Amino acid sequence: MKDAYSFDMDDQGADRSYGLMVEAYNNIFRRCGLKFRAVEADTGTIGGSFSHEFMVLADTGEDQIVNCTECAYAANLEKAELKPSGPDAADPQKADLKAVEEVQTPGRKTVEEVTRFLSVAPSELMKTLIYKSDGDVVAALVRGDHELNEAKLRNALGSAQVELADANLIQQVTGAPVGFAGPVGLKIKILADHSVRSIRNAVTGGNREDLHLRNVNPGRDYKVDNYLDLRVVMPGDPCPRCGAEIRFGRGIEVGHVFKLGTKYSKAMKALFLDEHGSEKPFIMGCYGIGVGRTVAAAIEQNHDENGIIFPIPIAPFEVVILPLQMHEQEVVEAAEKIYKDLSDSGVEVLLDDRDLRGGIKFKDADLLGTPVRLTLGLRNIREGKAEMKVRSEPDNVVISLSEAAGIVREKVKDLYGSVK
Ligand SMILES: [Zn+2]
Repeated sequence: MKDAYSFDMDDQGADRSYGLMVEAYNNIFRRCGLKFRAVEADTGTIGGSFSHEFMVLADTGEDQIVNCTECAYAANLEKAELKPSGPDAADPQKADLKAVEEVQTPGRKTVEEVTRFLSVAPSELMKTLIYKSDGDVVAALVRGDHELNEAKLRNALGSAQVELADANLIQQVTGAPVGFAGPVGLKIKILADHSVRSIRNAVTGGNREDLHLRNVNPGRDYKVDNYLDLRVVMPGDPCPRCGAEIRFGRGIEVGHVFKLGTKYSKAMKALFLDEHGSEKPFIMGCYGIGVGRTVAAAIEQNHDENGIIFPIPIAPFEVVILPLQMHEQEVVEAAEKIYKDLSDSGVEVLLDDRDLRGGIKFKDADLLGTPVRLTLGLRNIREGKAEMKVRSEPDNVVISLSEAAGIVREKVKDLYGSVK
């Protein structure tokens, strides 16, 4: 891990430092040949005001990311927001409200079991999840077809940690075993996702074993302390910035930047004297790159069936020279001369001087992914020629042996220019 920190005297300076670091990270990952996005991320346990993750786009990625099909909005799944606007926020029409009805649901606990048994859609059921939050107990309501986002719940409660209640606590709070919790009659704080407001005549748990209720409505049958964005986004949801459709993808996290604010400077007394002589905490930022992951991701995105195709800024060597007949003095001399020319001018060059068959040396060079390969064979040398191959291009080019060092050097320069 590469870590960096910034210390500024005011918010404006801290935002500038953050912006510069984001720009530097964008440049680094672009030069590493990566297809990536900077996505909004939850600050999680590190805390702070805001945060971006640099995600390499890869089907094999361990993180799910969301991005807008129209605007630049991108976020990880944990952070991806939903606006309360749209059909989710519509208030139910009072006229349609039916009377609450008890219904026996023996052994039916999950959304699937209950909705199938009662022949209703999952979106007509309301899940009541009991959570522990820093010593308190709260209920969180989400629609049956939605998933609660714990990071959003944690942020909404301003707590350090939230944890799903165990069976004992659920029994204690609701009077029923797991699977039958509902908001009617609960004596704890109730938070609900925006979408809950629009379910009319919902099915909920009845707070008694094997009992559910039909036609439950907020306001009339129970009180919600707060409507919030609490659920995980789903395909088809609108972008929180522009309302267009969002797209799901996977990513590998290679970098993460945080605006920390004063969380750590206050705690650790990192103070400075301002122009009036009073002590103030620094406004901090922290910035990390996973170096090993970045190389792994670069290889993941830059290879073919023969091996690695290194983007030149991170290639261990820029050029590999392959003399094909190490027992021929002419070949060895030509190879060593070009090796010295290139090295002296600052090119990072590898000379494969193993006395092996050409086929093996070609295979190894492809596998290692050195961006430029120069092949020297006896027949070509006698004709004043050499063969240059760029790893990312399909064909060999025959070049003049006497000008080979200069041509290779120019090629290296071109490759750097293409990733600036
Ligand atoms: Zn958008």
